Amino acid sequence: SLNQEKEKEVGVIGAGLVGCLTALALQKKGYKVILFELRQDPRLKSTKEKNLRSINLAISDRGIKALKYVDENLAKKVLDKVIPMRGRMIHDSKGNQESQLYGLYGESIKSIDRGYLNQELLNEIDIINKSGVGYPIEVLFGKKLINLSFLGEEENPTVTIVDQSSHQEQIFEFDFIVSADGAFSATRHYLQRYVRMTFKQEFIDTCYIELSIPAGPGNSFLIDPNHLHIWPRDKFMLIALPNQNGSFTSTFFSSWELAESLNTDTKILNFFKEHFEDGLKLIGEDNLISSFKNNPKGSLVQIHCNPYNYKGKAILIGDAAHGMVPFYGQGMNCGFESLRILLEMLEKNNFNTEKAFNQYSKERHQDLEVILKLALDNYNEMSHDVTSIVYLMRKKIDSFLGRLLRGKWLPLYTMISFRGDIPYSEAISIEKRQQNIIKKLEAAIFVGTIYAAVKISKYFASKFVK
Ligand code: FAD
Repeated sequence: SLNQEKEKEVGVIGAGLVGCLTALALQKKGYKVILFELRQDPRLKSTKEKNLRSINLAISDRGIKALKYVDENLAKKVLDKVIPMRGRMIHDSKGNQESQLYGLYGESIKSIDRGYLNQELLNEIDIINKSGVGYPIEVLFGKKLINLSFLGEEENPTVTIVDQSSHQEQIFEFDFIVSADGAFSATRHYLQRYVRMTFKQEFIDTCYIELSIPAGPGNSFLIDPNHLHIWPRDKFMLIALPNQNGSFTSTFFSSWELAESLNTDTKILNFFKEHFEDGLKLIGEDNLISSFKNNPKGSLVQIHCNPYNYKGKAILIGDAAHGMVPFYGQGMNCGFESLRILLEMLEKNNFNTEKAFNQYSKERHQDLEVILKLALDNYNEMSHDVTSIVYLMRKKIDSFLGRLLRGKWLPLYTMISFRGDIPYSEAISIEKRQQNIIKKLEAAIFVGTIYAAVKISKYFASKFVK
């Protein structure tokens, strides 16, 4: 349904993945939207040349559900360009590969080019604007938010925007703003003057460096394209996700100390020869050295806020509200889901933004805290647990029960990645119950085994020991 109130003007800050989808969604609800983006249009030739590297991410059910909620056709276009990844392919230090499936019935998370997705969302804005349906979305590139205040009786948000080329400042007033300006959100900073916000920024001692595995002859894939490849080495790891052109985007994760100690060609090469021999063959020595030295070293941060809004006037969404480490592949998926939930709350509250934003802050918080924790915990799972016998045994029992009790027993990964209808916090409660049952089963198997062993030894003792 459409917002029936007087035509309302909305400012969306940040045209990243979440900001673009937010602008589209609000336009479709009847709002007049201006979208501000600090950077230049990524579709311009000059901008494209700067971003030649192919960087991808995994989209799964929560992200897809939100895309479909905003526009079925857009979701279809996006899904046409994905590569399904049905499991993890674990590469051990001897070069052996072992597949561990994600789902119970062949479900997959999907690898998608981040640049393609962002551009497709911007193209969709152009399509909407040309269609003449509703108000056109004004997209202003090279415009940075540098201040936010709430003025007058209505306390409407007033934002100061500076043009990145001319350095000229302009002031805009809106009925409300939705801010998707990323983990280091400027809006959040200014909002904290007005909102009694509990806020935590948590730097994780993990550095990441993007590398690449080139395509084989005729754009062929050198390793299985339908897996997310992991080289788990406990305190550090390498991963790789497939691209449409046969290449893989690979990411190296380690402590900052280790990453910074690999500061010469020889050290980088020797390290990879020792720990990722097969990975090195795929990446290539020259490619590794140039990428390792020249690509930026990324830091990882977790952002916790509460609440996310100022009355019905401003709200944070996406990484600005809940930036998380990438180990569950949920950052964008969760940001898209947050948008879907916010829109549903707007509808439920008859587009009364104050009621909807307050309800969102109250009800969404527990889910966001759960996924932030799961994302952090999953580093251990990816870098270490996937090779542990206890972990593998538990996974086997979990999957066995999942198949046996179809729909009544749901492994955690299935709930998070393939069941967007289950809120994160509900997923974790279900998981706790299930893990308790598994622990009891393990204890019963253990006691049963001991009991049987004692019985058998007693039997043999009575037969043979005089
Ligand atoms: P951003 O993508 O950060 O966009 C913010 C935008 O705001 C930017 O365009 C920026 O230029 C603009 N901006 C910033 N400040 C201002 C300002 N003052 N004024 C105007 N504009 C401004 N998520 C997944 O779901 N699956 C994955 O597999 C996955 N893998 C990842 C791998 C890595 C290595 C990393 C680091 C992240 C990964 N993520 C993944 C997380 C995902 O990238 C983020 O959650 C997602 O990009 C967040 O989108 P956003 O729009 O909220 O923020």
